[in-house]
Amino acid sequence: MGGLAAAIRLAADGHSVEVFEKNERVGGKLNLLERDGYRWDTGPSLITMPFVYRELFAAAGRKLEDFVELAPVDPVCRYVWPDGTRFDASDSVGRMTEALENLSPRDVRAYFRFMAYSRRLYDLTAEPFLFNGINHWRDFFRLNPLTAFKIDPFRTVHQAVKSYFRDPRLVQLFDRYATYNGSSPYQAPATLNIIPYVELGMGGWYVKGGLYALAQAYLTLAGELGVNVNCGPGFAVEEILVRQGRAVGLRLANGREVAADRVIANSDVAYTGKELLPARGKWSGKIGKLEPSCSGFVLFLGVKRQYSQLAHHNIFFSPDYAAEFDHIFKLRQPSFDPTIYVCWTGLSDPDHAPPGKSNLFVLVNAPYLSTDQSEAFDWERPGATQAYRDLVVNHLENFGLSNLSQNIEVEEIMTPVDLAMRYNADRGAIYGVSSNNRFSAFLRPPNRSRQFKNLYYVGGSTHPGGGVPLVTLSAKIVVGLIKQDEQKGH
Ligand SMILES: Cc1cc2nc3c(=O)[nH]c(=O)nc-3n(C[C@H](O)[C@H](O)[C@H](O)COP(=O)(O)OP(=O)(O)OC[C@H]3O[C@@H](n4cnc5c(N)ncnc54)[C@H](O)[C@@H]3O)c2cc1C
Repeated sequence: MGGLAAAIRLAADGHSVEVFEKNERVGGKLNLLERDGYRWDTGPSLITMPFVYRELFAAAGRKLEDFVELAPVDPVCRYVWPDGTRFDASDSVGRMTEALENLSPRDVRAYFRFMAYSRRLYDLTAEPFLFNGINHWRDFFRLNPLTAFKIDPFRTVHQAVKSYFRDPRLVQLFDRYATYNGSSPYQAPATLNIIPYVELGMGGWYVKGGLYALAQAYLTLAGELGVNVNCGPGFAVEEILVRQGRAVGLRLANGREVAADRVIANSDVAYTGKELLPARGKWSGKIGKLEPSCSGFVLFLGVKRQYSQLAHHNIFFSPDYAAEFDHIFKLRQPSFDPTIYVCWTGLSDPDHAPPGKSNLFVLVNAPYLSTDQSEAFDWERPGATQAYRDLVVNHLENFGLSNLSQNIEVEEIMTPVDLAMRYNADRGAIYGVSSNNRFSAFLRPPNRSRQFKNLYYVGGSTHPGGGVPLVTLSAKIVVGLIKQDEQKGH
């Protein structure tokens, strides 16, 4: 999505652009699976910040709404706890207040105070961190020193959330937003508490027809602007060609060499450094040491029945959130009592499953793949994946999805190994580099290569980070850098 967005902006500015994708279809992690009358989005299921996509299309003189229909989702998410409590989060102030009054009346005011704090964080960070990106240490000093303190970098997400809410269920609910960029609420800086405002203040959105329609819209627009998009194994990039410290083109798996004035890599930066570029300087070694975000374990289930208790987005919480994150980020093992996300797009788009049936997308946070064999969980060990699948299905049955296992008629599994192989995602990370460090925004690889001239990075592993809106913003940042370089005659 980052690569296509960059191609759109450059083509709209009059550049000649070619895109190379090693898979059969564009979209990367935002992808599609269709089987036996069922259809699933394989990655993102909820998008935020619709103004980001509108602005991309406007930059090319088009209107987003002529390509896709965005639909608000209400409830934004249904949360269920092991004791059976259910809570529907909404971006409607009225419905949210009512839900909070039923769950924990003493936390209603806390919610409004927390959302005001979340909005303040957004107002302080959006411009310097999201819309511009940090590409040099000097950029840090662009920040007003007071701002550096106001963005709450010294507490963790959890410490800040806990200082607002008294009900532990609400603490868990708001802690969960740290996972939106693959981090742990017990390690990530409280600055990430901007995310609740982004979702509950600005709204969570679904793309009618399924999220893959957004990738198709980017592709259609790129095509209209004359971008040449090449997909398939023959178009896998095997090397970024470098002459005298300058990126000058690509060598593809089909043997072709493509000359280029500038190269933008949308592949994961760590993978790109290790596999596509000549080793150069200390950075090549350092980059592999940045902690990746978490990975994911996904089940795509075609189920012969429907469960009326499910909303479009559902979270089934674990009883011990701290233990779950210890498993994922410290022990690097999948949690055996995990929080489970279930997305049922068939509720909004009934043709995503045969009549009376349901297409369930089930996602559990999983550790990134470890290179240290002593701590690695081996998804390829015979029986390991199946055993974890059984555990997840069993948990869902305990949450009231009765006889789920007997009703599954179509099924596919995606493990962290699949994520790594399909998308060249470094260690299977979903969101690039994790934010489990208060300096992560400054450690993330920059959008302009420091080692090679005319080489740029776009996507979840560079600035401003993972998630569809942010990778779309990263394209804007990269194209801005290219314009600067052109003006300087580089
Ligand atoms: C299960 C899951 C759930 C998610 N949920 C959400 C969500 O709800 N909301 C949200 O906003 N985000 C979500 N995300 C994250 C979101 O999908 C990503 O942050 C975003 O799509 C990444 O885009 P990208 O531009 O970084 O590129 P990627 O998606 O990483 O794509 C990179 C592309 O480069 C290609 N490539 C790699 N190496 C080569 C090579 N050598 N030659 C040619 N091509 C190559 C890959 O095949 C891939 O197509 C989710 C992701 C996953 C996996």
